[in-house]
Amino acid sequence: MQLHAEPAVVIVGAGPVGLGLAVRLVHAGVRTLVVEKNDHISPEWRASTFHPPTLEQLAPTGLSEKMIAAGLIADRYQFRDRQLGKIAEFDYAVLRDDTPYPFRLQLEQYKFVEMATELVNASGLGEVRLGTEVVGIEQRDDAVSVVVSGPGGRQRLDAAFVVGADGARSSVRKLLGVSFEGWTYDQRFLLISTDFPFEQNIPDLCYVNYIADPQEFVMLLRIPDVWRVLVPVGPEVDAVDVTAPENLRRIVRRILGDVHTVAPSLFAHQLYNVHQRVVETFNLGRVALVGDAAHVNSPMGGFGLNSGLQDAFDLASRLVRLLEKPATRQAVDAELSTYSDLRRAVALDHVRRMSHRNTEMLMRTDENERAADRERLAATAADPRAAREFLLDASMINAARGTGFGRPPDEVVTGKAARDGGQRGTRTGS
Ligand SMILES: Cc1cc2nc3c(=O)[nH]c(=O)nc-3n(C[C@H](O)[C@H](O)[C@H](O)COP(=O)(O)OP(=O)(O)OC[C@H]3O[C@@H](n4cnc5c(N)ncnc54)[C@H](O)[C@@H]3O)c2cc1C
Repeated sequence: MQLHAEPAVVIVGAGPVGLGLAVRLVHAGVRTLVVEKNDHISPEWRASTFHPPTLEQLAPTGLSEKMIAAGLIADRYQFRDRQLGKIAEFDYAVLRDDTPYPFRLQLEQYKFVEMATELVNASGLGEVRLGTEVVGIEQRDDAVSVVVSGPGGRQRLDAAFVVGADGARSSVRKLLGVSFEGWTYDQRFLLISTDFPFEQNIPDLCYVNYIADPQEFVMLLRIPDVWRVLVPVGPEVDAVDVTAPENLRRIVRRILGDVHTVAPSLFAHQLYNVHQRVVETFNLGRVALVGDAAHVNSPMGGFGLNSGLQDAFDLASRLVRLLEKPATRQAVDAELSTYSDLRRAVALDHVRRMSHRNTEMLMRTDENERAADRERLAATAADPRAAREFLLDASMINAARGTGFGRPPDEVVTGKAARDGGQRGTRTGS
C-alpha cells in the first residue's frame, strides 16, 4: 500500500468506535489520523460489555488479549424477576463450537479507549490528535477534506476518506445533512455504580442480570471493580431529586427488598435519555458514518458499542480494499453503499429489534404477559439447542456473521424495518 504524507483516512472522534477503526486500519498498514475535539481522551465508563464477534475481530491486533486480561469473563447471564428471583440462566458453553470467546467480556469503555489509543499512537502509522474539532467537510470525486479548528487555528486536512465517529450528536452527520430518524423513550435511565455486595446477599447472582419488575426493573452488571445498577426513571420525576445521594442509596438497597441496613458506597451516577435512532444512510461519497454517529439504541443487551465496532470492522476491510489501488468514483460508491445497506440492516433488524424487545420485556406490567415471558425464557434456557439459537442472537454472532465475515451477504436480512408498533415515546427526526 502506498503511503503519503497525509493520512489516507481521517477519523473524526476518539471514542471507542473511532479508535477501534483506527486500530484495524493501522494494523492493515493504512496511515490514519484520529481527530478529537476534547483535549483529553474520554474517561467515561458508559459501555461495559464486549460480545464474542468484537473480540474475534480485534484478536489479530493483539487488543483482545489485553482486554481479556483487564476484564471479567461473564460465561453466564440471567433473567430474573424482582419478586421471584432467578427465572432463566443462559450458559455460554453452548457456543463453544461457534466462537473462541464463548462469553461476554465485562470491561469499562474507558479502559478499551486507553488501550486502543496507545496502540494507534505506537503503530508508527496512526496519530490521535487531541483538541482538534472538525467544523467543515469538502468532498471531491477523488478526495475529501475536513476543516479543523485546533491549537494552531483553522486548518484543512486532506484524505482519501473521512469517517464520522463523533457520537450521537455527530457534527459530520449534520454537515452531511443526513437525517437521524427514530424515537426517544419516555423513561430515562439512571446508572449508579456501587461496591454494595449484591453477590453476598443474592447467592445465585451472576455477573450480568436483567431483572424484570412492573414498577422498577433493574439491570445489574458486574464490572472489574464495582457493580453497575441501572433503573428506569419516569418522565414526571425531577432529575435533582432522583440523583440525590440518599435516594441513590435507597434505590440500591431496595434491590434487596430494603432488608440491608448498610449504606452503600456510591462511585458515580448518570441520568440519561434513551433513544432508538438510525441514519437514513451510512455514507455520502467518501464520507462514512460509524457507531453512535449512525445509530443509537436502548442499552438493554449491550449492543450499542459492539455494533459500532462491528460497523468499524466492516468499513475497515472496505477502505483497505479501496486504498490498494486508485479507486474510481463507481468503485467507491459500490463499496460504501454496500457498507451502508448492510450496517443499516443490522442496526434496524438486529440492534433496534432486540434492544427494544429486551426493554419492553423488562418494563412489562401485564401479569399474563410477564408470566408468558418467564415461561418462554425458562424453556429456552433449559433446552441446549434453543439456548444456542438464543445466544447466537444475544451475543451478536448472527448479526456479525451476516455482515460479510461469515454468512454470505445475500443471506443478510435486508432493510425491512423491525419496528413492531410497540414503541413508546416521542418519534422525531433530527
Ligand atoms: C450512560 C451510558 C451508558 C451506556 N452503556 C452502554 C452499555 O452498557 N453497552 C453498550 O453497548 N453501549 C452503552 N452505551 C452506548 C455506548 O457507550 C456508545 O454506543 C459508544 O460510546 C459509542 O461510541 P462512539 O465512539 O460511536 O461515540 P462516543 O463515545 O460518543 O465518541 C465520540 C467522540 O467524538 C468526539 N467528537 C464529537 N464531535 C467532534 C468533532 N466535531 N470533532 C472531533 N471530535 C468530535 C467526542 O468528543 C467523543 O470523544 C452507553 C451510553 C451511555 C451514555
